This record gives sequence, C-alpha cells and structure tokens, in this order.
Amino acid sequence: MTENKHQFRAIKGTRDILPPDSALWNWFEQTARNTLESYNFREIRLPIFEETELFARSIGADSDVVNKEMYTFSTAHDADRKEEGASFQTYSLRPEATASVVRAYIENGMQTLPGNAKLYYVGPMFRRERPQKGRYRQFYQIGAEVLGQSDAPAIDAEVIEMLMIFFKRAGLTRTTLYINSIGDKNCRPPYVELLREELRKLNDEATSVGRLGPDSQRRIETNPLRVLDSKLPEEQPIIAKLPRISDHLCDACREHFSKLKEELTLRGIAYEENWRLVRGLDYYTRTTFEVIAEGLGSQNAVCGGGRYDGLVELLGGLPTKGIGFAIGTDRAILSIQESGKLPQLPALAVFVAWMGPAAYPTAVNITRKLRQAGLAVELPAEEMRFKKSLGLADKLGARYALIIGEDEVTSGTFTLKRLADSDQKKLSEFELLEYLESERRDTRA
Ligand code: AMP
Repeated sequence: MTENKHQFRAIKGTRDILPPDSALWNWFEQTARNTLESYNFREIRLPIFEETELFARSIGADSDVVNKEMYTFSTAHDADRKEEGASFQTYSLRPEATASVVRAYIENGMQTLPGNAKLYYVGPMFRRERPQKGRYRQFYQIGAEVLGQSDAPAIDAEVIEMLMIFFKRAGLTRTTLYINSIGDKNCRPPYVELLREELRKLNDEATSVGRLGPDSQRRIETNPLRVLDSKLPEEQPIIAKLPRISDHLCDACREHFSKLKEELTLRGIAYEENWRLVRGLDYYTRTTFEVIAEGLGSQNAVCGGGRYDGLVELLGGLPTKGIGFAIGTDRAILSIQESGKLPQLPALAVFVAWMGPAAYPTAVNITRKLRQAGLAVELPAEEMRFKKSLGLADKLGARYALIIGEDEVTSGTFTLKRLADSDQKKLSEFELLEYLESERRDTRA
C-alpha cells in the first residue's frame, strides 16, 4: 500500500521550531512579556480565526493581504449554520491581530475601563505569501496596542521607546528606527490628490526617469500612497521626484510630529525620518514607524507600527484613538542568531550516572530533590556503565555528572564531576544541594 509510505512533511511556508532554538524563542517572548508588562501593558489572548469581513474592512479589501493572502474557509456543517442563524459565513485565519484587538475592545466594552487600554498579544499569523528566508506562511508576531481617548505624542513615544528597549534587552541592537507622519483626514486627502496628479504627469511624460510598472500604474488611481512602498529599482528615480507629505502636513499634524520627535530625543531614542513610510488606508493617521535589522537580506523589517485613530469607528465602535506595532518574531530571532550574540539559556545541569541496584533508589531520590531546587536533571531510565553514562552526559551538554555507585551508597556521599574540566568532588547530600544551588544562582546572575 503506497499510502502507508507517505512521508508527511510540514506544509510549505510552515516549520517546526525545535530545541534548542525553541529555548531562544521562549526567552525572546518572555523578555517581551517582561518589558511590555513593565510599561503596564497586559496580555490579550485572541482567537486564531475571525470573520473574513473583519479583516477585509480593517486591512482593506484591495490590499494584497486580504486579496491574495488569507486562508479562508466557510462553515462546514448545516448544524453550525443553524446555531449561528447565519445562512453562510466565511472565516479566515488571522493575517494580523490589530483587527482582532479592536474587535475585542469594542465587543467587551473596554472603552469604559479607566485610562487607556494597553494590550499586547503573542502568537502565530497566517499569510499565503511566497516563502523565502524571513518570510513564512505561518509566522509569529508580538504586538502591542494602546486604545483610548488621547492621542498625545507621548503615547506614541512611549510605545516606540518600549519597542526599542525590548529590542535592546533581546540583544537586537543592529537596528534602525524609521519614523514618519502621514497626516490626518484634513491634510492627507489633498496631499494624496497632489501625489496622484504628479504620478499621472510623470507617468504620461515617460521621461528620462522612466516609467512606472503595472502595479504602481494601477495604484495611481486606487491608492497612490502605496506607490511610495515600491522597492522596484526602475521606479526609484520617479519616486524621488514626488512631493513629500512632510511639506503638506496641517499645523496640528506638524505639531504632533515635532512633539513626537522631541519626546523620542528626551527618551534617548535614535531615529531616522523616512518620508516614504506610509500606510495606505484612510483610518491610519499621523505617526508611522518601522524597525529594520541587519543580517536579514531583503526581508529586513522586524517591526511595523503606527497610529490608527479611525479604526475603532470603522469597525462599529465609538470614536477612539489607537496606536500599535507588530514585531516579526521569526525575523527578530534570525537577526539575533546571525549576530552570534546569543543569551546564555538554561541547559542540562546534572546527568545522574548511577550503577548497581543499590544506587538506583538513591539516584531517584536525589534527582527529585535537585529538580525541586530548580535544576534541569536527566536520570537515565536504564542502568549504564559509567563510561557510557559520562559519554552521554557530555553529548547532552550537561554541566555536571553526579556519580552514584556502590562506593557512594556505602559512604553516603555523592561524586560530582564538572564535565568541562573533569574537576571532581565528594559531597554529602546537604553539601551537594548547597553547592549546586549557589552555582545556579551564580550562572543566572
Ligand atoms: P505587518 O503586519 O505587515 O506590518 O508586519 C509586521 C511585521 O511582521 C513585519 O515587520 C515582519 O517582521 C513580520 N512579518 C510580516 N509578514 C511576515 C511573513 N510572511 N513572515 C515572517 N514575518 C512576517
């Protein structure tokens, strides 16, 4: 039967995060949790799938994510349909989580909470993109959002500070922070119109600077801001000639942006302005930012964020201000790995090398006590010769081998061998626990 021979493989664009990498992932996410919680952000756990329409409305029905990249399915059973009272419903795996956070904010009446809602999430997202290094179909994000009544530039600055402090703690230091302001509903529409006119002109002229490709040509009419996102080399000379939003901000937006920059300076955050950093949707306002990291090739953005003051209303809530970011964990981890500056992560502390039936109960008991003291301990299930035990301990990367043989049982002691230099001591149970605990404290410190 050929079916039995089928070799199952992870689906294209998905992958397993195996040990020891998984320890680095956990450490990265835990560092994020610690940092974000120190800024008084709290976790929101969200569903992995939502109504397709939620994403269509929030991300934009004409965006690539919604148009081409979502994993969408419809309700499978008639029974489900009856229960929900809907004739037909389509769901999508979430391609991002801001839409879900906003949906949850409205649904759970969070606008009545005191102060701003400061929420973070950690988890997988799904987009059917062409897989390559740093780009997957199931990828992971850590995101934070602030929702509430205020749009003070200090909120934007604190969110950005928190992000950069986290990257620093995580050892992601070879980064560049780009910021921009894309105006608001007063100053952006006339700018977009100006951009459209200029693009039409440049395109019609077909001058020495060249022509726009088909995607950008289409965007002149649908969403000219998106032309600024283009990475096509032949379009760059044209884009360089386009009017910049910074010259067209209204007074309130200009003031907000200059306050943001002051606030970043106050907080010691280095940034570069990038006038091409845009978000093409109407509800985005003012601040946009992005962080790129070294060692990643073309997929070098490790975080994107911005203000979205119109989104809550767009999804049926009351007028609410909002700002947030999403960090791409896969890429951040890749960049840390490429830098070679990996944190010291907890590894196997003790391998218990026991031999002889009399040694076994002692081995089981001391193993339990060491584990209780917080050490990672491996106890072989079957008896092995010491030579083999020590060889395996070495291969597993244990720091110590705890040798328990007949001699040790008779004398009521343990032999502790440090594998790095073969240094060996004989210790009572009390001394052993003391020694390993203090050593654990030292290596953590
Ligand atoms: P976005 O939600 O598109 O603003 O993306 C935010 C961040 O998520 C990006 O800066 C990337 O680091 C990461 N990201 C987005 N799409 C992918 C993907 N397909 N694979 C890996 N990371 C991604």
